[in-house]
Amino acid sequence: MHITVAKSAGFCFGVKRAIKIALETVAKSGHVEMLGDIVHNEQVVRDVESAGIRKVDALEAGRGKTLLIRSHGAPESVYGEARRLGYRIVDATCPMVKEIHTIVRERYAQGFSIIIIGDKQHDEVRGILGQIGWDALVIEHPDSVPPDELRGIERAAVVVQSTQALANVRAILAVLERHIPEVVFSNTICRATRERQAEMETLPLENDVVLVIGSKTSANTTRLYELARAANERSYLIQTRSDIMPGWFEGAQRVAVTAGASTPDETIQDVIAALEAMQAG
Ligand code: SF4
Repeated sequence: MHITVAKSAGFCFGVKRAIKIALETVAKSGHVEMLGDIVHNEQVVRDVESAGIRKVDALEAGRGKTLLIRSHGAPESVYGEARRLGYRIVDATCPMVKEIHTIVRERYAQGFSIIIIGDKQHDEVRGILGQIGWDALVIEHPDSVPPDELRGIERAAVVVQSTQALANVRAILAVLERHIPEVVFSNTICRATRERQAEMETLPLENDVVLVIGSKTSANTTRLYELARAANERSYLIQTRSDIMPGWFEGAQRVAVTAGASTPDETIQDVIAALEAMQAG
């Protein structure tokens, strides 16, 4: 059985950067808090918490504390409240997400209606919304474009959550262009996501079985799995090596392994070791 590991498998630039900033910050300043999990991966969350970073649901008195802004970014109101409460802020927002913030702020100031293609509940989308006082339309799927809400929009600036699938974005854009006279589109799917998705166009076709490693709570991992599964029904989403079922590989000559942007390298290496051990056995 030949094992191919996707070049783009595992931590993206933004996640690596955020974890590095988090660990450096806690090493220097004792009391570090963050609102929510650093990334959507249970192993990484455990590692960061055991380094001493506390996950909190709400901000409290912040004097002597540091607030770490995660790679997904945060609404402007979070920065304001943190400052008011006395927190020191360390910002680990991914620069690609910051770029989306800049685009929406500029376009909003120019009088465009803002449309975000993305998952309504995702922290990155909430962070983008929070740059412009939540005054934007969020669309998840071509079937959920609300024609009533588009009526009256003359000029729209459209941005995309960094981890969206291009096909979904194109389909939504086509609907928007039918309803809105002027649409200015910024393709803000980040490079890491594009590379990962491009590999998914070929890997599932070239391999008998595809393993996608990552947490079920990770949107980019789930999306990767959906792309794999659409092209090859012998695609499986696993969190760790213990999810692997030997029956999946019956008659398989070639196996591809990929992983979401928040999956640690150790988990990927562990899965590869398990596949190799299966072969040896
Ligand atoms: S997926 Fe892209 S935008 Fe999100 S943290 Fe990674 S590099 Fe940044």
